[in-house]
Amino acid sequence: MHEFSIADAIIHVAQELVQQNGGGKVEQIHLRIGELRQVVPDALLFAFDILKQDTPLSDASLEWETVATRVRCKTCGSEYHPNDIFWECPSCGATGAEVVAGEELDIVGITLVEGSDGD
Ligand SMILES: [Zn+2]
Repeated sequence: MHEFSIADAIIHVAQELVQQNGGGKVEQIHLRIGELRQVVPDALLFAFDILKQDTPLSDASLEWETVATRVRCKTCGSEYHPNDIFWECPSCGATGAEVVAGEELDIVGITLVEGSDGD
Protein backbone atom coordinates (compact mmCIF):
# COMPACT_ATOMS: atom_id res chain seq x y z
CA MET A 1 0.00 0.00 0.00
CA HIS A 2 1.97 2.98 -1.23
CA GLU A 3 -0.41 5.37 0.50
CA PHE A 4 1.67 4.91 3.65
CA SER A 5 4.82 6.18 1.99
CA ILE A 6 2.89 9.12 0.53
CA ALA A 7 1.41 9.99 3.92
CA ASP A 8 4.84 9.61 5.51
CA ALA A 9 6.40 12.02 3.01
CA ILE A 10 3.62 14.58 3.51
CA ILE A 11 3.99 14.45 7.28
CA HIS A 12 7.75 14.79 6.97
CA VAL A 13 7.43 17.98 4.92
CA ALA A 14 4.84 19.42 7.30
CA GLN A 15 6.99 18.67 10.34
CA GLU A 16 9.91 20.50 8.80
CA LEU A 17 7.67 23.48 8.19
CA VAL A 18 6.57 23.43 11.83
CA GLN A 19 10.23 23.41 12.88
CA GLN A 20 11.04 26.34 10.61
CA ASN A 21 8.04 28.11 12.11
CA GLY A 22 9.42 27.54 15.58
CA GLY A 23 6.52 25.42 16.71
CA GLY A 24 2.79 25.29 16.33
CA LYS A 25 0.48 22.68 14.94
CA VAL A 26 -0.74 21.79 11.52
CA GLU A 27 -4.41 22.44 10.95
CA GLN A 28 -4.83 21.43 7.35
CA ILE A 29 -2.84 20.11 4.44
CA HIS A 30 -3.98 20.61 0.89
CA LEU A 31 -2.67 18.40 -1.90
CA ARG A 32 -2.97 17.92 -5.61
CA ILE A 33 -2.85 14.29 -6.63
CA GLY A 34 -2.73 13.12 -10.22
CA GLU A 35 -4.95 10.28 -11.38
CA LEU A 36 -1.93 8.31 -12.49
CA ARG A 37 -0.74 8.08 -8.90
CA GLN A 38 -3.67 5.74 -8.33
CA VAL A 39 -4.05 6.86 -4.77
CA VAL A 40 -6.93 5.21 -2.95
CA PRO A 41 -8.52 8.05 -0.95
CA ASP A 42 -9.64 5.92 1.98
CA ALA A 43 -6.24 4.26 2.18
CA LEU A 44 -4.44 7.60 2.18
CA LEU A 45 -6.68 8.99 4.92
CA PHE A 46 -6.23 5.80 6.91
CA ALA A 47 -2.44 5.95 6.62
CA PHE A 48 -2.40 9.67 7.43
CA ASP A 49 -4.54 9.18 10.54
CA ILE A 50 -2.19 6.52 11.85
CA LEU A 51 1.08 8.24 11.05
CA LYS A 52 0.04 11.68 12.32
CA GLN A 53 -0.29 10.44 15.90
CA ASP A 54 2.16 12.09 18.30
CA THR A 55 3.23 14.64 15.72
CA PRO A 56 2.31 18.32 15.31
CA LEU A 57 -0.18 17.02 12.75
CA SER A 58 -2.28 15.08 15.22
CA ASP A 59 -5.31 17.35 14.64
CA ALA A 60 -4.63 18.03 11.00
CA SER A 61 -7.07 17.31 8.23
CA LEU A 62 -6.04 16.24 4.78
CA GLU A 63 -7.72 17.51 1.65
CA TRP A 64 -6.85 17.13 -1.95
CA GLU A 65 -8.03 17.67 -5.45
CA THR A 66 -7.53 15.08 -8.13
CA VAL A 67 -5.77 16.10 -11.32
CA ALA A 68 -7.18 14.38 -14.39
CA THR A 69 -4.76 12.57 -16.64
CA ARG A 70 -3.87 14.32 -19.87
CA VAL A 71 -1.48 12.97 -22.46
CA ARG A 72 -0.11 14.34 -25.70
CA CYS A 73 0.00 12.22 -28.82
CA LYS A 74 3.56 11.83 -30.07
CA THR A 75 2.35 11.52 -33.63
CA CYS A 76 -0.03 14.43 -34.11
CA GLY A 77 0.43 16.42 -30.92
CA SER A 78 -3.17 16.50 -29.80
CA GLU A 79 -3.89 16.25 -26.11
CA TYR A 80 -6.51 13.93 -24.71
CA HIS A 81 -7.72 12.15 -21.63
CA PRO A 82 -6.98 8.43 -21.97
CA ASN A 83 -10.02 6.34 -21.21
CA ASP A 84 -8.32 3.04 -20.59
CA ILE A 85 -4.89 1.50 -20.30
CA PHE A 86 -4.38 1.75 -24.05
CA TRP A 87 -3.56 5.31 -24.87
CA GLU A 88 -5.02 5.58 -28.33
CA CYS A 89 -5.17 9.03 -29.83
CA PRO A 90 -8.75 10.03 -30.69
CA SER A 91 -7.49 12.23 -33.52
CA CYS A 92 -5.11 9.96 -35.42
CA GLY A 93 -5.43 6.57 -33.74
CA ALA A 94 -1.76 6.35 -32.84
CA THR A 95 -0.64 4.82 -29.58
CA GLY A 96 2.27 6.27 -27.70
CA ALA A 97 1.83 9.49 -25.85
CA GLU A 98 3.62 11.50 -23.24
CA VAL A 99 2.09 12.51 -19.95
CA VAL A 100 1.14 16.16 -19.66
CA ALA A 101 -0.75 15.95 -16.38
CA GLY A 102 -1.73 13.27 -13.91
CA GLU A 103 1.53 12.49 -12.15
CA GLU A 104 1.20 15.30 -9.63
CA LEU A 105 1.81 14.72 -5.99
CA ASP A 106 2.09 18.26 -4.77
CA ILE A 107 1.56 19.90 -1.44
CA VAL A 108 -0.39 23.02 -2.36
CA GLY A 109 -0.74 24.46 1.10
CA ILE A 110 -0.13 23.77 4.76
CA THR A 111 -2.11 25.70 7.34
CA LEU A 112 -0.38 26.19 10.68
CA VAL A 113 -1.91 27.28 13.95
CA GLU A 114 -0.07 28.31 17.06
CA GLY A 115 0.23 25.38 19.39
CA SER A 116 -1.14 25.36 22.89
CA ASP A 117 0.20 22.77 25.25
CA GLY A 118 -2.32 23.35 27.97
CA ASP A 119 -5.67 22.24 26.60
ZN1 LIG B 1 -2.56 11.64 -32.56
